[in-house]
Amino acid sequence: MSAAKKNAVVTGAAGFLGSHLSDRLLAEGFRVIGIDNLLTGNVRNIEHLAGNADFHFIHHDVTNYIYLPGEVDLVFHFASPASPIDYLQLPIQTLKVGSLGTHNTLGLAKAKGATYLLASTSECYGDPLEHPQKETYWGNVNPIGPRGVYDEAKRFAEAMTMAYHRFHGLDTKIVRIFNTYGPRMRLEDGRVVPAFIGQALQGQPLTVFGDGSQTRSFTYVSDLIDGIFRLSQSDYHEPVNIGNPREMSVMQFAEHILALTGSDSQVELKPLPTDDPKIRQPDISLARQVLGWEPRVPFEEGIVTTLAYFRDFLSIPAC
Ligand code: NAD
Ligand code: UDP
Repeated sequence: MSAAKKNAVVTGAAGFLGSHLSDRLLAEGFRVIGIDNLLTGNVRNIEHLAGNADFHFIHHDVTNYIYLPGEVDLVFHFASPASPIDYLQLPIQTLKVGSLGTHNTLGLAKAKGATYLLASTSECYGDPLEHPQKETYWGNVNPIGPRGVYDEAKRFAEAMTMAYHRFHGLDTKIVRIFNTYGPRMRLEDGRVVPAFIGQALQGQPLTVFGDGSQTRSFTYVSDLIDGIFRLSQSDYHEPVNIGNPREMSVMQFAEHILALTGSDSQVELKPLPTDDPKIRQPDISLARQVLGWEPRVPFEEGIVTTLAYFRDFLSIPAC
């Protein structure tokens, strides 16, 4: 191990985004300490790092005190259930990791004099009344609805992060992540990308919620991670949207998946979940301005790579 390497802590490292972030940090020459309690993640996502002397995994619940010896330069707090069915099934854990987990990871960063980056979310905007969403928009969130456990935990986490920045002078960053997709998503996590791909590949009906007119804007994972890495190296402290502004309806997304897979699955309409946002599209002017970032991977390319990952996962040969 080279003594010149910087040390980064990634909570949620066995999850979808945490594992890709760990890969990027290792490629950038960091040593990475990944912390995860495997609540919604899987060691399969980091098994390729076994034997890498620069990666160290700690099985730990970050809602409990985090003790780490040695120097830490960067703390990335990514631990949290992230899919609607996960946080509906794990409401208390979601609130705890957004509040206690954020407090503990901020405390770790402060004790080590490290830079801190919080994984926040477009859910902070709730069911938005402003479109596209700029960072200056305060949001339209139902605090006591079923999604409130996630949205309010993240809003609290943002408030706590800004308090550590303002009161303790901690070097903090906040990324508001918009719907991101790619390899290592969990097939059963209920998010629309793995749900529709899994259903199409297995000849099951595609479960479109509501009438499918609600919109989302999908970001490929490598683009997101690039934006996050740039933000971690910047000196910008207020929240920054990272997402791909290309917006489509859920029905259009279902049609893309059917066309791409050649599946003869039907679309089956299901009730729209409570407080499901009707529209979502990031305004990324700020990311362009302060990070020089914009997405590079077109939807048509990212979705093919993701489809190949799920075919392989399900052992379904390409036709
Ligand atoms: P994920 O479920 O794949 O990963 C989250 C990881 O956190 C899992 O490995 C889980 O086991 C771990 N975890 C949960 N609670 C923990 C705890 N108390 N202690 C330690 N580990 C814990 O989800 P993801 O999609 O990779 O999301 C990562 C982060 O990005 C989350 O904070 C999420 O809110 C945020 N985010 C993701 C998206 C997206 O589109 N993927 C969008 C907005 C925000
Ligand atoms: N959705 C759907 N069918 C599914 C899963 C999701 O129609 O099987 C819809 C969901 O109602 C939402 C959109 O797809 O409008 C994106 O859902 P996801 O869970 O991926 O993320 P969200 O943006 O809601 O957090």
